[in-house]
Amino acid sequence: MSSTPAPLPAPEMGEPYLLTPGPLTTSYAVKQAMLRDWGSWDEDFRAMTREMRSGLLDLIGPGSDAYDCVPIQGSGSYLVEAMLGTFVPKDGKVLVLSNGAYGQRAAQTMEVLGRAYRLLDKGDYMPPRGDEVAAILAEDPAITHVLIIHCETSSGILNPVEEIAAAAHAAGRAVLIDSMSAFGAIPLEAETIGYTAMVSSANKCIEGVPGFGFVIARKTALESAKGNCHSLSLDIHAQWAAMEKTGQWRFTPPTHVVAAFLEALRAHKAEGGVAARGARYAKNRDTMVDGMRALGFETLLADRWLSPIIVTFFCPADPAFDFATFYDAMKARGFIIYPGKLTVVDSFRIGCIGQMDEYVMRAVTDAARDTLTEMGVVSAAPPAKALEERKKLAA
Ligand SMILES: *Cc1c(COP(=O)(O)O)cnc(C)c1O
Repeated sequence: MSSTPAPLPAPEMGEPYLLTPGPLTTSYAVKQAMLRDWGSWDEDFRAMTREMRSGLLDLIGPGSDAYDCVPIQGSGSYLVEAMLGTFVPKDGKVLVLSNGAYGQRAAQTMEVLGRAYRLLDKGDYMPPRGDEVAAILAEDPAITHVLIIHCETSSGILNPVEEIAAAAHAAGRAVLIDSMSAFGAIPLEAETIGYTAMVSSANKCIEGVPGFGFVIARKTALESAKGNCHSLSLDIHAQWAAMEKTGQWRFTPPTHVVAAFLEALRAHKAEGGVAARGARYAKNRDTMVDGMRALGFETLLADRWLSPIIVTFFCPADPAFDFATFYDAMKARGFIIYPGKLTVVDSFRIGCIGQMDEYVMRAVTDAARDTLTEMGVVSAAPPAKALEERKKLAA
């Protein structure tokens, strides 16, 4: 078919598209919103903080009156640590459900906090299920909270949050959710899930730039969390109490990042909210996965578990394939992809989120096709070992 296409006139500044789960490709308007300085104590900035908090609460649907939104400076991991440190009392115990790097990081966080936890480790990508959670909770009455990773970004699996939350609530335990890479594109409604708290960050599905994250938590949980936290700066109760009283962040806020995020939130609403954002990402995924499969690539996960956030592909078995070369050639064509995180077989990931549509995704698979040709890769089919690995998930 076509010869090597010229690199797309990718975003406005001739940058490559970031096919990564955040930081991701943002709009020009979002970048432009950072070209102004704000006084953190000034009413103009306090109004921005208020608009942001209420705009985020609007995303959790009916029942949001019982919740409040509190931003905290830092990357997403700061928010996970803040949530665990603030809502889990010093004598509490967390069941950490892990099927990838972010579940492991949450367990490591509990370790550093020195608080009790139990780890259900499902390996690289097997989903934790409601019945397993119910069995553990029945056997271990000390567990007070269950931590779920919504989309485990290391494989791209969309974990069955609703089923797990139902099992936890049936056993009278509280639910905490790391929805870092899903919130804003996949519904996480207060009424259906009934979580105690969830966290996400500015630079994922809302399409802002990195610099802070936020928790959405039940007001009753925020009120009763006083004194739990191991940390001054990560204490969500203290940040909330100060913000309620003064309208300000306790310590220097990332003002430019907040301005960019507000612009991103307005665009999210204009696009049609969570449903429309999720639909665009799903279309991105379907276009990209169809194109990659047509080249012979195979996904780690069966369609049922594929999130519209990021997709893991096995590296081809063909000896002419080399990931570093593939990466550089894709970058030269305007697309930055993401290495894999599986421990058993070689893989790479392609993200579906950010300022991209199906036409961009079509250009991605065209670039992959041309790159394979350039590398002399005859078949993109994975090694037999990879397919055996995948069978475990079907079983
Ligand atoms: C991005 C992400 C985080 C946070 O990672 P940071 O590098 O600290 O921003 C946590 N959990 C999940 C599931 C994520 O995708």
